[in-house]
Amino acid sequence: MQRSKKMVLLAHCLLNVNSKVDGLALYKGAHKQTICKYIEQDIGIIQLPCPEMTYLGINRWGMSKNQYDTPKYRKHCRGILIDIVEQLVDYKRKGYEIQEIVGIDGSPSCGVNYHSHGYTGGMVETAEKQKKLLTEKQGAGIFMEELTKLLRENDLQVKKIAIDEKETP
Ligand code: SF4
Repeated sequence: MQRSKKMVLLAHCLLNVNSKVDGLALYKGAHKQTICKYIEQDIGIIQLPCPEMTYLGINRWGMSKNQYDTPKYRKHCRGILIDIVEQLVDYKRKGYEIQEIVGIDGSPSCGVNYHSHGYTGGMVETAEKQKKLLTEKQGAGIFMEELTKLLRENDLQVKKIAIDEKETP
């Protein structure tokens, strides 16, 4: 059978919500609406690594972009992205099409249109109080910024879209 030669890159948690900060999951396993859409269209799915899970593990706290914005975290993001970007270069050379990248709006790492901002660190008594200290700010998260740079460096152009999890049924 002929392969479609079409692929998308999905933020890790769209296929595995277990990677999210405890208390933030809005579905049980995978984001069915998104996954099923691509399966129906015969589009292959590449799962991006979760930058926060691979950096701080599953017991991490929720943090904002300004907290994650350190040279070390940016280096980590690039480090886990390079293998994927190299695959994309190879696919492109052989005529495959990467249709889009799907991020998670609101995430300090995987946001595309906006990310969480504002909490500057220090002790907080409750998760509720921490949430009140956060605001949404326009612009991509750290991981998406580093992915954009790597794509540009490798002469790749891929459209980015995002799921707004607040709208997940
Ligand atoms: S860092 Fe990205 S992939 Fe990981 S849980 Fe957050 S939004 Fe999902």
